[in-house]
Amino acid sequence: MESVLPGQDLWLRILEKVEIEVKRPHFLTWFQNTAILSFHDGLLVIGAPNIFAKDWLENKLGAQLLEAVKTVYPEVREIMIEVDPNLGLPEDLRGVDVTKFFAKEKKPRKLPGKQEVRLLEGISSKCINPKFTLQNYVIGPSNRLAHAASMAVGMSPGSIYNPLFVYGGVGLGKTHLLQATGNEILRNDPDKVVVYMTSERFTNEIVEAIGKRNSKDFKDRYRKVDCLIIDDIQFLANKDRTQEEFFHTFNELYDNGKQIIISSDRPPKELNELEDRLVSRFEMGMIVDVQFPDYETRLAILHAKCRQHEILIHAEVLEFIATNIHDSIRELEGVLIQAIAQAQLEHSTPTVRSVAKIIKKLGRDNLQGMDQQGSEVSRGLHSEEVIEIVARYFRLPSDELMGESRKNAVLLPRQVAMYLLRNELNLAYDQIGKEFGGKNHTTVIHACDKIDMRLKKDKNLLRDVNSIKKEMGL
Ligand code: ADP
Ligand code: MG
Repeated sequence: MESVLPGQDLWLRILEKVEIEVKRPHFLTWFQNTAILSFHDGLLVIGAPNIFAKDWLENKLGAQLLEAVKTVYPEVREIMIEVDPNLGLPEDLRGVDVTKFFAKEKKPRKLPGKQEVRLLEGISSKCINPKFTLQNYVIGPSNRLAHAASMAVGMSPGSIYNPLFVYGGVGLGKTHLLQATGNEILRNDPDKVVVYMTSERFTNEIVEAIGKRNSKDFKDRYRKVDCLIIDDIQFLANKDRTQEEFFHTFNELYDNGKQIIISSDRPPKELNELEDRLVSRFEMGMIVDVQFPDYETRLAILHAKCRQHEILIHAEVLEFIATNIHDSIRELEGVLIQAIAQAQLEHSTPTVRSVAKIIKKLGRDNLQGMDQQGSEVSRGLHSEEVIEIVARYFRLPSDELMGESRKNAVLLPRQVAMYLLRNELNLAYDQIGKEFGGKNHTTVIHACDKIDMRLKKDKNLLRDVNSIKKEMGL
């Protein structure tokens, strides 16, 4: 019997049934980026982006899900859930973004296929994913310029910044930015034709066109395109024929005032395997980079993703993730999603310990905010120990250290203790305040800043703090 792909519309109709039955945070977490993969002989295969989602859907929902499926699609006798890690990748458009389609404020739903993107004869990839917007792109010093340039292009494509060239390392938000700019152009003018594709896809189209012997009018296909977005242009390296076609397409669009947006893992002048004439075209426009975000931006991104998933997570846990993930925003997001998924399976909330385990699986050791054995520094016990060690070191009773005295001989040790709890145990400010008999978090911030500053100048204090750290086994 023939396999058919029933597509997103059907899945959305099924999800509408399920949505009523399932608690909202669960629904948003577990159905995010799910899709129907195939239907064959009465068996409907549903794709989930990770094992946690699969487990939850099978174990917690099994029968209910089949019910919902059957009401919409009576031919189904059986369902099966399969993990497909590609679901949810920015390039993969099969998965349903439930946070968008099932947003709280009920906007009229736009079904995919009928979405903003207009289709053009002969071009098979127009993939703009509506989940990437310039509005949900968190801005920080690492990407401010890139965001501003994208916004300008989104408002007036084909005029000032043409081409727009965005470069930066893997997982730093290039694809998000490119797609968001495409969406912004469409938001401002739904009649515009925006085409997004990876350079691999572009290459495939050219190879196909060559195979069909109609490559000579390849560039004509793009005549009606108002904005052409090519992601990861570095993959055109050494593909001479593709570069040649791209060069002509580029010129055609450029000469007609159409917008071109390109991304790459490096700046144009380092694209050594690309023809010089192409590189010099790229240099005609605006070149911006995205860098790895600083701690504050990483934290802001985590908060934004929690809001997007309508999930509450302890500030301390988010701080722990932001402190320990150094390579990419994709990884940052991945750890967060896994943490949420796992915690929900276990009916708990993510803790520093559970998140640390996930990060360790990525091959990270030496996590900050963890003790030598790599287990979570148990807040209650260990903060008491630290206070005890500090008090002993300064020859004070620990209840005096935790008390109210403003005498310098007590105040300084107290501030050192707060500083160590913050920097070595990674406790949140308000948590530290609580440890010290309910002091305000601003007191703690002040204490930490003060010690931080003094350590830069005061050699004696530095020695004291280092000795205490040794006592703590650091
Ligand atoms: P790249 O294309 O550079 O490899 P992506 O655009 O695929 O990176 O980004 C990886 C993930 O991180 C995506 O899910 C994206 O939405 C998210 N992301 C990256 N930068 C930001 C940002 N500034 N704000 C919010 N999310 C971001
Ligand atoms: Mg990308």
